[in-house]
Amino acid sequence: MCKDCFYHAFEEEIHHTIVTGNLFTRGEVVAVGASGGKDSTVLAYVMKLLNERHDYGIKLVLLSVDEGITGYRDDSLETVKRNQQQYDLPLKIVSYEELYGWSMDAIVKQVGLKNNCTFCGVFRRQALDRGAMLLKVDKIITGHNADDIAETVIMNVLRGDIARLRRCTAITTGTDGALPRCKPFKYTYEKEIVMYAYFKKLDYFSTECIYSPNAYRGHARTYIKDLEAIRPSAIIDIIHSGESLSFKKEVKMPVQGTCKSCGYISSNPVCKACVLLEGLNKGLPRLGIGKPSRERRKLAKMEEEATINGSANESTVLKSCNKSHGSCDCKKTNKPLDRRKPNAEDFEF
Ligand code: SF4
Ligand code: ZN
Repeated sequence: MCKDCFYHAFEEEIHHTIVTGNLFTRGEVVAVGASGGKDSTVLAYVMKLLNERHDYGIKLVLLSVDEGITGYRDDSLETVKRNQQQYDLPLKIVSYEELYGWSMDAIVKQVGLKNNCTFCGVFRRQALDRGAMLLKVDKIITGHNADDIAETVIMNVLRGDIARLRRCTAITTGTDGALPRCKPFKYTYEKEIVMYAYFKKLDYFSTECIYSPNAYRGHARTYIKDLEAIRPSAIIDIIHSGESLSFKKEVKMPVQGTCKSCGYISSNPVCKACVLLEGLNKGLPRLGIGKPSRERRKLAKMEEEATINGSANESTVLKSCNKSHGSCDCKKTNKPLDRRKPNAEDFEF
């Protein structure tokens, strides 16, 4: 296949996925989750092109999350800012520091390099939703490709995570409350995206995160690559298998509600981000990871001691700065997330 035919086939396959999946409705504002990496850069480029070519009638905006990773995200955000100019699309950046009072650099200092991606993943999901809600967009699109989805299917099978297994192959999620998210690259292979970005000379950032252990996904990736060597259609087969799974009626599924602390969608009384944030703010970063009972006992003990010292609740001591809550200016407060909302005018475009 020549270069031009490859471009055409690549773009029209994505158009086919968009049309058959009914991803957009005329008049919608759609945020492209933009990290500066190859997937989201190609997504922004192709979406702009297809929107014009096929007249979807949607308005595209770029939405980025700054996790606060020096030497990685600051550089990749420079790429997104150049993309904003190149593609002439509005851009909004929301940061962990602004939303949670913690950058990933600060989190890694406290939790080390073992569970950092748990914090990062949970915070990013919320940050993207919060940014999108403030931008008043109708949906978010992300650059998750076929390889990513196949890996997620395998990871969820290995973890026995039925709830995630059930929704991880859906092309649109979040229609039942949170903002809908779509994956126009659901059937697009990673190698096609790399080739497209390379031949089109797109401006993207290709360095790996400096805090990237993510061993579990790495094992799933290696496993799928080995399978592909024997059976080239392995990735698409895994996705189709995921789509065709049916689940016993007796299997209990989490019931969606809202977090009583920040109001974000959650299947528990307090959402994962608030639990993780509480752990960070109280110097007990393992509070929201694995079995929480030991950390909960520690927390109860700390609060008991604070009560004895006459400084209960509001003045729980923050291990990170050794000052009482409210008596320092290190911003590591545990206010509910919705009190951290940036001003609406920040989001005008
Ligand atoms: Fe965040 Fe981990 Fe990804 Fe780095 S590798 S951006 S820490 S989730
Ligand atoms: Zn919450």
